[in-house]
Amino acid sequence: MSTTPSFAALIVAAGRGRRAGGDIPKQWQTLAGQPVAAWTVARFRAMPQISRILLVVHPDDAAYAEEITGVTCVPGGATRAASVRAGLAALAEDPPSHVLIHDVARCTVPAEVIAAVCHALETHDGAAPGLEVSDALWRVDAGAISGTQDRGGLFRAQTPQGFDYAAITAAHDAFPGEAADDVEVARAAGLDVACVPGDEANLKITTPGDFARAEALLRTTMDIRLGNGFDVHRFGPGDHVTLCGLDIPHPRGLQGHSDADVGLHTITDALYGALAEGDIGQHFPPSDPQWKGAASDIFLKHAVALVAERGYRIANVDLTLICEAPKIGPHAPAMRAHVAGLMGLDVAQVSIKATTSERLGFTGREEGIAALATAALVRA
Ligand code: MG
Repeated sequence: MSTTPSFAALIVAAGRGRRAGGDIPKQWQTLAGQPVAAWTVARFRAMPQISRILLVVHPDDAAYAEEITGVTCVPGGATRAASVRAGLAALAEDPPSHVLIHDVARCTVPAEVIAAVCHALETHDGAAPGLEVSDALWRVDAGAISGTQDRGGLFRAQTPQGFDYAAITAAHDAFPGEAADDVEVARAAGLDVACVPGDEANLKITTPGDFARAEALLRTTMDIRLGNGFDVHRFGPGDHVTLCGLDIPHPRGLQGHSDADVGLHTITDALYGALAEGDIGQHFPPSDPQWKGAASDIFLKHAVALVAERGYRIANVDLTLICEAPKIGPHAPAMRAHVAGLMGLDVAQVSIKATTSERLGFTGREEGIAALATAALVRA
């Protein structure tokens, strides 16, 4: 009786509903930069209690769904209940102690709601979020109000609806026909189902207008990505170095395939890093002769464009150049202005500073210049 509980999330996404508008089912439509289903999966992935996520999809959608969500997809059935049964069956080989069944269209479900369901399952067979009805309720016949309905004790049902895995599986196997939801199936089998606090932010996308409401909710949720960059270029013959897009007189130059602008390379790598999209060498292979002697602002502008394409904006970048010489301080204001211009940022969003390495190591011996950078991205 003291085994640690394990929670699986079963997200039902097999519907073909077109009430929300659009050419494709609502769960695959893009919302604030990614498909609805990806947002929903991310909500459960962020919960430490949830050890497994399964998406039940229409058989035609399985490959696409796995690609965009990165979770295991199970082919669903002709009805919602059949899809839930298919999902429960897919968990049978390595059964969790509990399962949370969730509608994919609720892509803004708050962490508190998921946590409350998991918590209530410690003491109940089932638990589901509900919201007390606060508006007065009418009956309307042919456009005219024909009566009022007492709202006392009435709640609006939400998901995820969580259950003891073995109990809900048996309940589904025994239930005849189509139920309104899994709570109805559970109650028919005599399970005790607690109602935990739901949330107005746990919106179910049903109509075209719901997309705008969901997007507004997602945009108020903080989504920050950080990336770091590090680069080194060695000194060689020359009469200047190119740093942060500026040519600075120096008795030696920096060697590299491009213009060897260690400053811009490092900021560029920080941006790719924040997106988890590789590094400068992957996007602009040094083996490709077209980048020989290239001005490094090409690389930086590519990374900046990729940030926008992925639905983010740059909050700030911070670059540290590590060298004994040339002295960076006198050039830092012009460098900041130039880099801000290249990136389409305000100067206040760009920090460029320098340090020596106290004459230690390769930078101390003036064999080259090293640089490191951090970039912060926020969802646009
Ligand atoms: Mg480089």
